[in-house]
Order: sequence, then structure tokens, then C-alpha cells
Amino acid sequence: MSLRIKPFWETKKLAQMTSDEWESLCDGCGRCCLNKLEDVETGELHFTNIACRLLDSSSCRCQDYPHRKKLVPECLVLNPETVLSSNALPSSCAYRRLAEGKPLAKWHPLVCGDHKKIHHQDISVRGKTVSEEFIHIDQFQDHIVSWFN
Ligand code: SF4
Ligand code: SF4
Repeated sequence: MSLRIKPFWETKKLAQMTSDEWESLCDGCGRCCLNKLEDVETGELHFTNIACRLLDSSSCRCQDYPHRKKLVPECLVLNPETVLSSNALPSSCAYRRLAEGKPLAKWHPLVCGDHKKIHHQDISVRGKTVSEEFIHIDQFQDHIVSWFN
């Protein structure tokens, strides 16, 4: 008989996780740090390749995570409530997947043990973005992408 100890993301609800467990769920894809455009008629959200000015385009990590809300007031700070209510997270996002009752993806670092896999498997936004500092708001529509939803 072979026994497997279930990891915390399979046994705990999001609201029961410690802060370390919560933070470890982020796969570092950077997708939530892209600007989105909302269709005013349908309410549908479209991702662009225009990244928040604080996103490091190489590591796909925030350059000032502790002060992000102060520096970027529109930054979405996740908690169990905002995960469920936000439509700004891609379907691949670990928080969204768990909130929807899905398992973590096979390429997730906690599952595969490799933090680089999200880059090699084209999950992260590395090398695909342009900073919002260089794009005029009138040009945002030209940057809508269909890599993911
Ligand atoms: S989309 Fe989700 S998993 Fe990816 S960086 Fe944002 S919070 Fe982390
Ligand atoms: S402030 Fe940081 S975490 Fe927030 S959207 Fe920008 S890069 Fe992402």
C-alpha cells in the first residue's frame, strides 16, 4: 500500500491558509499585472500585453510587492473574497482555480517543483509585454491579446 500525504492546497480552503501558504500559491505568471479593457456594452474583460509599470518583465514579479498598493492604487490585492469576486484573474491563476474547486495545474511550481516551468511552458508573460509607461491610453485597444482568458 502506498500512502500520500495531501498537500495543504488540497485540504484547506483559501481562507484557512497561513500567509506563507497563501503567498506560495502564486505561480508568478504575471498575468494579473496586465492592463485589461472592459467592453462597455457586454462587460467582457479583454487582456492586453501592456504591463503595470511595476512589473519586472523578466522575472514577471512585482518590483515593490510590499508597497504595491501605495505605488499603484489600482493594484488588485488578493484575499479569499476578492478572488471569488474578481473577474480580472486569468483562468490559469492558482487562486481562481482553487476557488472554483479545480486542482492546481501540472506546471504549477508547488506541483512540479520547478519555478521555471511556467516560463518554459508559455504560461508566464515573460518577453511578451510592454510597460504601460510607453503606451498612450488611446493605443490600449491595439494591444488586446488572446493568449489566455
Ligand atoms: S495570475 Fe494568479 S498566479 Fe499569476 S501572478 Fe497573478 S496572482 Fe499569481
Ligand atoms: S503593483 Fe505589482 S502586483 Fe500590482 S499590478 Fe503592478 S506589478 Fe502587479
